[in-house]
Amino acid sequence: MRTTWPMVVGGREVESVSGETYERRNPGTGEVVGTFPRGDAADVELAVEAARETFDEGPWPRMSGAARGTILHSLAERLRGRASDYARLESRQVGIPFGQITWLNSYCSDVVDFYAGAARMAFGRSLSTTEAGMGVTLPEPVGVAAVITPWNFPLVLTIWKVAAALAAGCTMVVKPASQTPITIVELALDLLEAGLPPGVLNVVTGPGSVVGEALVAHPGVDKVAFTGSTETGKRVMEGAARTLKRVSLELGGKSPMIVLADADPGAASDALLECFYNSGQQCNVPSRLVVAKDISDEVVDMVVSKAERKRLGTDDDADLGPLVDDAQFDRVSAFVEGARAEGANILTGGERVTVTGAADGPFMAPTVIDDVRDDSPIVREEVFGPVLVVQRFGQLDEAIRLGNSGDFGLAAGIFTDNLDAALLAAKRLRAGTVWINTWNKTFPELPTGGFKASGVGRELGLEGLSAYLEVKTIQFNPSGKVG
Ligand code: NDP
Repeated sequence: MRTTWPMVVGGREVESVSGETYERRNPGTGEVVGTFPRGDAADVELAVEAARETFDEGPWPRMSGAARGTILHSLAERLRGRASDYARLESRQVGIPFGQITWLNSYCSDVVDFYAGAARMAFGRSLSTTEAGMGVTLPEPVGVAAVITPWNFPLVLTIWKVAAALAAGCTMVVKPASQTPITIVELALDLLEAGLPPGVLNVVTGPGSVVGEALVAHPGVDKVAFTGSTETGKRVMEGAARTLKRVSLELGGKSPMIVLADADPGAASDALLECFYNSGQQCNVPSRLVVAKDISDEVVDMVVSKAERKRLGTDDDADLGPLVDDAQFDRVSAFVEGARAEGANILTGGERVTVTGAADGPFMAPTVIDDVRDDSPIVREEVFGPVLVVQRFGQLDEAIRLGNSGDFGLAAGIFTDNLDAALLAAKRLRAGTVWINTWNKTFPELPTGGFKASGVGRELGLEGLSAYLEVKTIQFNPSGKVG
């Protein structure tokens, strides 16, 4: 298997201008999974130049949506054809067990196929302005996009942006997270094989504080699409404002799952286990259980006992892998210790776990924390680790108030058999997605994104396509001559 990956600029595999490289190790096994170019502002300059020239002079933005869709369909076929390759690579670089990520290829192909079709649907509108006059709106690609993505689901979160941007006719420079560039470079190479013209999609690897900042500041970039922490998102928005770039941001979450007294505790506790998926390193996990006092003990006991049956490991069949690195472990651990110091009750987990057969990786068992203060950092902030906190309520109004508390508004959920209560809660919860009696299903057709500090704009769906389009108005001034 390949161990050294290049950057991709102007359709070519390149080293960094400085010649510098860096390594990534699998956090569970300690093995080196790849060596990558350490790009800097000089590499950004070349990549933006390639994307800019391809946008301004090349055929890509001027091709029909149907022609762009054909190339996207061909990419979807390649993703399907590579069976489990991408899932294997993702597992190695992120640390998530292979069996937990096998859905990757079919899911990503589905998203790409959706945008291949959507490329044909960037319709405008028309208006009769005077007796013979007419105005039309014409959606056009926004230009060169900088796509900056995180390490938790590198391929999925990049495909959401790249597929929509390509469908719209944009060119782009992608900056993957330092820990996880492999599947993004593979994607760029597969796109070239699928017939994407050189220079449409460029990849620069290297630190966000250098490569990301340079992209955000670059006058040749028209739009920044970012997923990551709220702090970095604010910085990106501030930086982009200097040149009035378009911005879309997918940021953090602290999503409540409300469980009413009539809910099925078994189904609710199963869904709550989503909180531990990918060791909780996911923006829309149900990290707050907001549960009716009447059934709270039963639901909490069930979650704890199911959480304790989860097996940590580095093998394909393990349920949870390690956290992405030691820094992330320390961050999560600091939240847990802070809660402990405040008097919270750690019902299970919360400690570093030694896993047989693995290096001394940053493993943390699923953690459930009770008796938390509503204003505690562990309740209000995104932990990004396998940590569930419990909040109890008496009446539905209180549940909705708790659900809406805090700065985030990415997702929320409600478990109940009462349709009226479910719909009322769904309308009153200030979140980009509300799940009723389910959690964490996404479909390419349905947009996703955040209210409040969880982001700006939407991805997926036709809204995701609009995020890469500018609308031009064209007016026809009739000459007055008829016939
Ligand atoms: P960041 O938000 O810092 O990183 C996300 C992406 O932004 C990475 O590609 C990163 O590059 C890049 N980046 C970093 N600094 C800048 C900058 N100044 N300008 C432009 N781009 C930049 O997340 P972290 O990896 O530091 O994770 C910290 C916390 O963020 C997590 O604990 C979690 O709470 C949250 N997070 C949330 C995610 C989500 O999906 N909502 C995803 C990831 C993290 P590089 O990797 O090189 O630093």
